[in-house]
Amino acid sequence: MKLRVWGCRGSIPTPGPTSVKYGGNTSCYEVILDDGRSIILDGGTGIRVLGEHLVSEADEHPKDILILFNHTHWDHIAGFPFFAPLYNPQNRIRIYGPFNLVNSEASFEKTMHVQFHEQFFPQKLTHIPTNIEYYEMKEGHTEIDGVKITSWFMNHPVQALGYKLEHGGKSIFYTGDTEPYQNPWGSTQGADEEDVDEDELEMRLNAELIIKERNNQVVETVRGVDFLLCDAQYTEEEYKTKIGWGHTSVPDALELGIKAGVKTIGLTHHEPLNSDDKLDGIYKWALDYVKEKGVDMHVEMVREGMTYEL
Ligand SMILES: [Zn+2]
Ligand SMILES: [Zn+2]
Repeated sequence: MKLRVWGCRGSIPTPGPTSVKYGGNTSCYEVILDDGRSIILDGGTGIRVLGEHLVSEADEHPKDILILFNHTHWDHIAGFPFFAPLYNPQNRIRIYGPFNLVNSEASFEKTMHVQFHEQFFPQKLTHIPTNIEYYEMKEGHTEIDGVKITSWFMNHPVQALGYKLEHGGKSIFYTGDTEPYQNPWGSTQGADEEDVDEDELEMRLNAELIIKERNNQVVETVRGVDFLLCDAQYTEEEYKTKIGWGHTSVPDALELGIKAGVKTIGLTHHEPLNSDDKLDGIYKWALDYVKEKGVDMHVEMVREGMTYEL
């Protein structure tokens, strides 16, 4: 199994001289199986380049394309209308995304249609010749084309699914956008100094237990994978002002990898404000962090254009 990176920038594309090394395209990855088939993760602007690559391949056979979407924020879907295989009616395209538990009016399929509205894009969905098959997933296990897939709801302002893919004795977990669960009611620690009444203390305690359980479930779902492709958008300092934005800090990402005992962690969804030089510095910090902890976990700072062997 290999992982090829077509886009690893978070939030918004960042073309320009300060993003040459890590790349400016937003989330798009290709998991390449040993038999040559591949599964695409997300359709950010990187999928446009992947689409060009797929249609330029020598074989003229119709393509059977499978894309797993983490969620529908722009940086994960913006390249999809520009994905060249959409325009060949011979191709089959299956796309999977999170089932919206909260709002059926904003289902994955309906939201994906929005970007083909004439106010956003010149080609209406009805003019797209390929038949797109939509599948909406909840938490659970399934098998698609012989690949074992575990989907898990992550913590993001909208419903977002993390995916574990297992095939040929290898495994990868893609968190997509996620943040460790936090207690919005505050901690029970130090509550006596805050003059908190008994009811509130109980509420905090219950919330803490649920949050702890939820964070543990993420660790267990990730446990032991060969490659954890993990949201690590912010430094510890940047995260302080971005709590609740739905992203993970580098130390929290590393801690998830360590707790789950993964072989390699790939830090990704890079903050658009961070230049190549800054990302190099963050990578060095991450390597030192893991070394200091004395754990045997390989760390990669994910770069567009790279292929990682699992
Ligand atoms: Zn994102
Ligand atoms: Zn997002």
